[in-house]
Amino acid sequence: MSVRRAVYPGTFDPAHYGHIDIASRAARVFDEVFVAVYANPVKAKSVLFSVEERVAMLRDVLAHMPNVKVAPYHGLTVDYVRQVQAMAIIRGLRVFSDFELEFRMALANRRLAPEIEVVTFIADERHLHLSSSTVREIASLGGDVSTMVPPVVNAALIAKFRERHQSGVESDYMVSLHD
Ligand code: ADP
Repeated sequence: MSVRRAVYPGTFDPAHYGHIDIASRAARVFDEVFVAVYANPVKAKSVLFSVEERVAMLRDVLAHMPNVKVAPYHGLTVDYVRQVQAMAIIRGLRVFSDFELEFRMALANRRLAPEIEVVTFIADERHLHLSSSTVREIASLGGDVSTMVPPVVNAALIAKFRERHQSGVESDYMVSLHD
């Protein structure tokens, strides 16, 4: 029987417990899950962490899931999904406001690649409010995000903002309403 492989794409800037929850649900349903870290978002947002940092943190926090792999990707998600011979794209749903964007993206991806299914999971309600932008914003102001992100991500956020504050960099990455 062929391997049922799925790709879970996102920016993951940075990974939080909502992402981990979705990855673990997908890992129970599919034989293999590739968490695909979008290297260069074209959306009107700049990233806080480099793609190498985002990949390294995800590898660390997902290391206990043997059928989950993490890799960076560029370009169209459907091209990457085809390249790794996956059958589905995983997305997470949080709140109703996610639905419209996810619905549009799923239909666009279906137009591009009708053979690929989009499968959405809903995170545990404890994590439903989490978004990377909320995490970044709280952490940038010195707030405690330790209930929202794993310790390795928390430490990276503290180090990143200490570095940025010391070098006088403004918070220019907080420009999007949706992440
Ligand atoms: P993107 O930059 O593509 O919006 P993100 O890195 O923010 O990607 O998130 C990747 C995926 O994880 C998206 O499908 C998003 O809806 C989902 N996701 C993010 N946070 C949560 C959460 N708290 N609960 C469930 N799904 C989530």
